[in-house]
Amino acid sequence: MPNYYIWTIGCQMNKAESERLGSLFEQFGYQATATPEEADLIVLNSCVVRRSAEDRVINKLCNLRPLKQRRPSLKVALTGCLVNSDLKGLKRRFPYIDFFFKPGDQPGWLTHPEPISILPRQPQVSTFVPIIQGCDNFCSYCIVPYRRGREKSRPLPEIVCEVRELVRRRVKEVVLLGQNVDSYGHDLPNKPDLARLLYELNEIGGLARIRFLTNHPKDLSQRLIEAIASLDKVCEQINLPVQSGDNQILGSMRRGYTVENYRQLVARLRRHVPRISLSTDIIVGFPGESEKQFQATASLLCELRFDSVHIAAYSPRPETIAARQFEDDIPDEEKERRRQLVEKLQENIATEINANLLGKTVEVLVEDRKGNKWHGRSRNGKLVFFVSDDNLLGRLVPLRIDKTSPWSLQGKIE
Ligand code: SAH
Ligand code: SF4
Repeated sequence: MPNYYIWTIGCQMNKAESERLGSLFEQFGYQATATPEEADLIVLNSCVVRRSAEDRVINKLCNLRPLKQRRPSLKVALTGCLVNSDLKGLKRRFPYIDFFFKPGDQPGWLTHPEPISILPRQPQVSTFVPIIQGCDNFCSYCIVPYRRGREKSRPLPEIVCEVRELVRRRVKEVVLLGQNVDSYGHDLPNKPDLARLLYELNEIGGLARIRFLTNHPKDLSQRLIEAIASLDKVCEQINLPVQSGDNQILGSMRRGYTVENYRQLVARLRRHVPRISLSTDIIVGFPGESEKQFQATASLLCELRFDSVHIAAYSPRPETIAARQFEDDIPDEEKERRRQLVEKLQENIATEINANLLGKTVEVLVEDRKGNKWHGRSRNGKLVFFVSDDNLLGRLVPLRIDKTSPWSLQGKIE
């Protein structure tokens, strides 16, 4: 039996697509291996959202070259956001790669007369379910719309069927994925929305929890807030990238909202869903970002107190509006200083937020273990570790929190 190996970096969408690719290969008779050296087929699922990610992919590709020279029967495929529409250019640049396919596409060299299910055969307790591909937003810094194309929603009944099947395979939690899940359905007949999808998924017996990401501040609807507040399986957690705390920068980023809009949205979310946990993404060192504008972002983090923040230094990306229109004028050292500053600030905030959970009991869905050390997540997404000799995989257990840190918690079974 031939062996396959998939290397993945980047967002959850890439991870979801790699899981599904693996399942597809298995249906074509391939078997997973732990190392690329043993593989007959290697797939690199790439990310180019920042220069640093792209560099890692290129490095990996270069490392494959000698392997391929030693073993010409080895097949190498490239997918993910490094794959652009200029296939000829890619082939010239990487002549030793056998196949290229766009993110979310099925590998063209595998053909099958019947449509086959690409659901993971033994899915994780918590499994990703892509609901909308692509992005129509064209934020000025972002390469994603150029590489993943325009928004395309999956039909609602197809998603519901898929989640039912996943639950039959013992999945307890689904994480619905899209670059902007709030756009879900606008391109479908009858125009269902994310709230409608949540109402339908909430009815599925055996499913314990539903999460989704990423939301866009300009699109998050009142209907969605009400769905989160009223549906028992929908977890109290939202990922709402703010990107900057300054209106002029937000304008240059083409985000479509102001700091005031964002603040009001957070207040509304917290009013309807008091225990909601919030995470966000920010970019420091966007072209022209002054010290004052950077400080505005830092104070917004102090004011809104997010549970977690993903901080990136601006990286100009080919094709994007920002790369064409603005000079990348903040030096790397300065970007790094700003990044570390907010990193530290957020660490203190998360330390305080998590310390409040000390002595409290949270319900954790058990996802995996190393030896007798298990871990899972609370409803609002906190990672919790605990010890047990029983097999608790996929169970909901109440844990009393006895240790906290900014990144995770520890607890004991009640
Ligand atoms: N669709 C999501 C995620 C897109 S990419 C959203 O709208 O937020 C994930 C994150 O990478 C973004 O939120 C942004 O913070 C960061 N990012 C995207 N392009 C970037 C760039 N050119 N430089 C630095 N960070 C970037
Ligand atoms: Fe990129 Fe903006 Fe689309 Fe997110 S919403 S993928 S940041 S263009």
